[in-house]
Amino acid sequence: MSEIKIFLKQGREKSVRNRHPWIFSGAIARVEGQPGDGAVVTVYDYKENFLARGIYNRQSQIQVRVFTWQWDEQITLDFWRRRLGRAVMGRQALAQSTDSNAYRLVHSEADGLSGLIVDRYGDWLVVQFLSLAVDKHRVDILQSLTELLAPRGIYERSDGEGRGKEGLPTQTGLIQGEMPPENLEILEHGLRFGVDVKAGHKTGFYLDQRDNRYKALPYLAQAEVLNVFAYTGGFSVYAAQAQAKHIVNVDTSAPMLQAAQQNMQLNGFADQSVEYVTADAFDLLRLYQQSGRQFDVVILDPPKFAYNKQQVEKATRGYKDINMQAMRLLKPGGYLLTFSCSGMVSADLFQKVVFGASVDAAREVQIIERLTQSSDHPILLTCPESDYLKGLVLRIVN
Ligand code: SAH
Repeated sequence: MSEIKIFLKQGREKSVRNRHPWIFSGAIARVEGQPGDGAVVTVYDYKENFLARGIYNRQSQIQVRVFTWQWDEQITLDFWRRRLGRAVMGRQALAQSTDSNAYRLVHSEADGLSGLIVDRYGDWLVVQFLSLAVDKHRVDILQSLTELLAPRGIYERSDGEGRGKEGLPTQTGLIQGEMPPENLEILEHGLRFGVDVKAGHKTGFYLDQRDNRYKALPYLAQAEVLNVFAYTGGFSVYAAQAQAKHIVNVDTSAPMLQAAQQNMQLNGFADQSVEYVTADAFDLLRLYQQSGRQFDVVILDPPKFAYNKQQVEKATRGYKDINMQAMRLLKPGGYLLTFSCSGMVSADLFQKVVFGASVDAAREVQIIERLTQSSDHPILLTCPESDYLKGLVLRIVN
């Protein structure tokens, strides 16, 4: 098979040399040969020095996704086996845990597999092929996953953000093995959760918050807790475990709150004092303030507010507003656990926004802890885009 060569424009080799895996169309000077979408291509700088090997997709702005910087590494079945094996090895400690059986096995770029997400939920795997590169090689990827993990079933949730930009349609459904049950039960730090892998957000559960839910436990003990953007009650089940006095769950989605209630029951917390409020967070926080409600702990874990650079300013206004509102609801000595999963909003910027909120709320606020995504969602140093979730534990001094 003859090699298909991509030559970059002068100066555009830098990010590839720095091992960033995305090559944009504007960086390409010429293509030698006629690669189809999904073809393996070799990338050279303008002086024709070898840079990397990747997979081509003319339909995307990211025209080449780099998979290796090694001249002698070919992208064959054995390559996918090695890459996936490496990712699985990186989760060995989690795999051996007896109190958690749901975690991310493959975190896209951070695992050298641009566009591939694989989450483990007990005996099942849920996969997302979010780039054409991994979609075209799905047969090899699925074979490797089966060899490595022998899952009971593999379910596809290729409906994430980004498929459209790659020229790919949404694709969901059972790929192989047994269909996962409607409410697949998983264990997280000894707590039980039902996961709807077919219709839940992302692949069904916010695994990226697993470590933070655990870290929240000491703050939640005996507290009156307001869990805003509650989804299926992740933080609330931990609050109940920590014997919180009262828990209020807020979400715009009634079905999600119903799932939250089921998760409480699943853990034997049915008798705890819990409210489920279907409402818009922005409105409800104001309403609570008007009625003088106070809490010991407020959790703010909103959905992504900024999907691109243009949306950052509006997103920061949104973050500032909810954080200010939340601070006003906290008793002196109370804690705000606040998050942003917008990759476009850096940890620095997020801290500035929260600072602004504290000034407007006229509260004195300390940072107690800085939080990030769970350890199974690694951040690749050469790909800052893999660093997206940030959080702060704030103490409202007075
Ligand atoms: N903390 C959760 C994940 C939160 S995901 C966990 O640990 O599992 C964000 C949630 O915010 C979703 O359930 C979504 O339905 C909800 N949501 C989105 N916009 C909202 C709004 N304006 N007000 C209230 N909830 C909202």
